[in-house]
Amino acid sequence: MVPKVIFGNGCLSQLGEILLPKRKNSEAPFIFLVDDVFEGSDLVEQLPLLFNDQLVFISADEEPKTDQVDALVSRIKGEYTEMPSGIIGIGGGTLLDLAKAVALMLTNTGSSSLYQGWDLVKRSGVYHVGIPTISGTGAEVSRTTVLMGPEKKLGINSDFTPFDQVLLDPNLAKGVDRDQWFYTGMDCFIHCIESLNGTYLNAFSQSYGEKALDLCREVFLGSLAPSESREKLMMASWHGGMSIAYSQVGVAHAMSYGLSFLLGVRHGIGNCMVFQHLGEFYPEGVALFQKMKKKHGIVLPTGICSDLGNDDFDTMISVAMGLEPLWENALGKDWKKTITPQKLRGIYEKI
Ligand code: NAD
Ligand code: ZN
Repeated sequence: MVPKVIFGNGCLSQLGEILLPKRKNSEAPFIFLVDDVFEGSDLVEQLPLLFNDQLVFISADEEPKTDQVDALVSRIKGEYTEMPSGIIGIGGGTLLDLAKAVALMLTNTGSSSLYQGWDLVKRSGVYHVGIPTISGTGAEVSRTTVLMGPEKKLGINSDFTPFDQVLLDPNLAKGVDRDQWFYTGMDCFIHCIESLNGTYLNAFSQSYGEKALDLCREVFLGSLAPSESREKLMMASWHGGMSIAYSQVGVAHAMSYGLSFLLGVRHGIGNCMVFQHLGEFYPEGVALFQKMKKKHGIVLPTGICSDLGNDDFDTMISVAMGLEPLWENALGKDWKKTITPQKLRGIYEKI
């Protein structure tokens, strides 16, 4: 679990005092990895850079990759003689995952792709802080950092992955556009549905999942004021992430990873594109999703898979079916009896 968290509008102003005791010396910098959507914004002016600290703007147009992590790590190692005092990630799931991965790979040898999987990381990373600016993924609280590698899209899941400190400032999510707000928010909703309907469910996951689901209903079906909606979605994301920490995601995530691997479809929208066709697995969840989508006038793209050939479908199916824990959570140990390549191809064709 994340050992330290602060919450509240404007709490970004406390970052300086939080970092101060963590600075090893004036040669050991803090590296701020910031979504480039904030270039030239007030947020950047508030960041407490000192000495040789560095601000790196990173585009979230593409989701994080293992070679991108490796390149950032070798750049930091090349530029400084001392190991950094810490890494601060500011942005959505993309930037949060990059920050976690860079922090881990500064102290673990080899390429980050060697650590994609479960509990392969040997050493704790450098101190790392997460500051989400869009809510839904739960990346701020989870024990994974999802990376696209040469062979697979898979997380580095380990006890060393979670942030040492998280700062939840709902004001930072003010500028998110409506479609992206919905897609990333639905990631949280889908985490809840997949966790609460999974065979891995236990009282720990259920308690967080139910709370997150209630908050999602309030945010997406209620009539909250914008500031209250931002606050509640930020906490929904947190609880949704906690829920899957002790269970797993399910069918939508497995299939969305396939879409993402082959076509670069982003996580939030990809989950939505798959989830709408999963009525047979999650009937109540899909009905609720359709209601939310309608209320917010969201129109999902169609025909994404219409030009694909057999090899393309096979690639997506093999990425999806390779995520065994997700299927086992969704359908139990005998999942292979229901889930066949033909079955998945049928669903991909609808997308
Ligand atoms: P994102 O980080 O990719 O950002 C989506 C878009 O929103 C980007 O264009 C970004 O620039 C923009 N944005 C972010 N904050 C903004 C703000 N305040 N104002 C205006 N624009 C803003 O989106 P995401 O959905 O948060 O993250 C997706 C990533 O998270 C994927 O890479 C996925 O694999 C990962 N993920 C990780 C976990 C985990 O547990 N580690 C869980 C789920 C998803
Ligand atoms: Zn997700």
